[in-house]
Amino acid sequence: MELAYDYPLYRPPSEANSLIFQVTLGCSFNKCSFCNMYRTKEYAERPWEEIRAEIDMMARFYPDTRRIFLADGDALNMSKDRLVQILEYLYQKFPGIERISCYAMPKNLLQKTDEELQALYAAGLHMFYVGIESGNDVVLKKVTKGATGRSIVQACSKARKHGYVLSCMVILGLGGRKYTKEHIADTAKVLSEIAPDYVGALTLYLEEGVHDEFMSKYGEPFEFIDDVEVLDELERLVRDFDPKMPVVFRANHASNVYSIGGTMPDDRGKILSLIEGLKSHPEMLKPKFLRRF
Ligand code: SF4
Repeated sequence: MELAYDYPLYRPPSEANSLIFQVTLGCSFNKCSFCNMYRTKEYAERPWEEIRAEIDMMARFYPDTRRIFLADGDALNMSKDRLVQILEYLYQKFPGIERISCYAMPKNLLQKTDEELQALYAAGLHMFYVGIESGNDVVLKKVTKGATGRSIVQACSKARKHGYVLSCMVILGLGGRKYTKEHIADTAKVLSEIAPDYVGALTLYLEEGVHDEFMSKYGEPFEFIDDVEVLDELERLVRDFDPKMPVVFRANHASNVYSIGGTMPDDRGKILSLIEGLKSHPEMLKPKFLRRF
């Protein structure tokens, strides 16, 4: 049994077994030049009656649901009151819920007051997936992310302060060949400062629909880095990422050249030796046609 979703529908890989409710459609920002996810949709918040009817229906089919993901791109953009209403109803209808999560932009987190974030946590929203992409301000501006390294740290620290579990995504190759050093050095700094529970490193892959826009918004010629340079970025990121508490680090997304993962900082040595091995055996990397964003 599946809901009549408004496609395309996205969710993080770790929410593969979660029940998904589309409480919003699209992304309220929709301007990141590398992102093709919601270009065909206009941001909208679905009416409470529709959401409630879907929750009622799915509660009849899957009463033992443990995990729920609220889609689309930034459900956190909804008002605190509407979200609390949805969360309370979900807990009422699915008594065994262990986790409710959604995507969140730094802007969403900064726009919510401390009291609002506290109220949402108390109502049972416990995890955010945040696309950080880069910690470098030049790169963030060139890809029109609508955030700076500082605002990302502020937003994520605010969520951490209220107890939220954070999973942050960064994109290898986003600075191209020219900004590769700054991109990785500042991304490692920002991630170290936030120390999220999870970090996912993806690799830049531009869908056809955004390729030209990405290039023109970049403001100067953009040169993709090659696979060995991607490994080199990963190596520098792992070497410089120094969280004060354990962080699950993964570079196992479909877009990556190889699946790598471990817990930082303890597994740093193991991950670095794997990368070292791969750099001298590039034939072991995933073929390009198997990689997607
Ligand atoms: S990356 Fe996230 S914030 Fe940016 S346009 Fe895509 S969904 Fe929206």
